[in-house]
Amino acid sequence: MSGLQTNYRAGFMRRTLAKYFFIEMLFLIAILPANAQNPAQRGIAITIDDLPAAGANSMTGAEIIEMTTKLLRTLRDRKIPVVGFVNERKLYKFGEVDDRIKALSMWLDYGFELGNHTYSHASLNRVGLKEWEEEVVRGETVTSMLLAQHNMKMRYFRHPYLDTGRDLQTRRQAEAFLVERGYRIAPITMDAWDWMYAGVYEDARHRADTALEQQLVTSYLTYTGQVFDYYEKFSKNLMGYEPKQILLIHGNWLEADHIGELLDLLHRRGYEFVTLQDALGDPAYSMPDEYVGEEGTSWLDHWAITRGHPPQNTPVFPQWVIDKANALPHQPTQP
Ligand SMILES: [Zn+2]
Repeated sequence: MSGLQTNYRAGFMRRTLAKYFFIEMLFLIAILPANAQNPAQRGIAITIDDLPAAGANSMTGAEIIEMTTKLLRTLRDRKIPVVGFVNERKLYKFGEVDDRIKALSMWLDYGFELGNHTYSHASLNRVGLKEWEEEVVRGETVTSMLLAQHNMKMRYFRHPYLDTGRDLQTRRQAEAFLVERGYRIAPITMDAWDWMYAGVYEDARHRADTALEQQLVTSYLTYTGQVFDYYEKFSKNLMGYEPKQILLIHGNWLEADHIGELLDLLHRRGYEFVTLQDALGDPAYSMPDEYVGEEGTSWLDHWAITRGHPPQNTPVFPQWVIDKANALPHQPTQP
């Protein structure tokens, strides 16, 4: 090989390497923005309502403890921060008060936090402001005591049915009342109606209809994916980024049995699990919100409606699940 050939080959190699490097850079530039917006950049706080159990009226204290144990073990093992919201009326069943309070106390023993969801799940859209305020105060009794035993203080409130009032004056008066009692309102942004699945699931579980159970779980996770697809894009269009989201789910057997799969789904979408306090630090939660309406809804809807851009073409909830829920002896109400 002559010196000229060697030089030529060396030059060729350099040019080839440079070309590959250049292509590599182009490739990186092409994929970087997607990466920067996706995995590990999303945050979500998990909140679980209607404790000690959404279906507490038709459960024994022992069953509530069993369900709570299963749910909390998964959450603790996976180090997921959670705030649970309590309806204390569910504690009072003759001969079972101790078990029911024990189930509630387990949330704190496992390292989670509890907030107030009113005493008997009262809607601000249906009862008067005074009665509703009494519901808030009455909902503090046992939970505050349990929190104090764990050196904690009640600090979060979640509106039952997400009903924040039918007129702005009532809404603002209720908010001022909550602030005065030391509460921070816990909004929600993501909601895949697990309560609608849960009644049908618990009925199938009771009858050991495992085929239907699996169908419901598959449908629930698919619908959850659709809700996240929709509201992630909706967030970006509305405010230019995806805020730290807050997910609403409920204390039921569907979640106790399958929350691991739900967490996997969120993890695959690039979510990190953050505390409610961390999520509420996102500037989104300080945006103007003048929503009033008959129906409680996501705070993403609140912000969009306030700006005059109500959500359109939202994912359609599977009708067959609604039909099965309506055929149950105890029909579900939106919690
Ligand atoms: Zn509720």
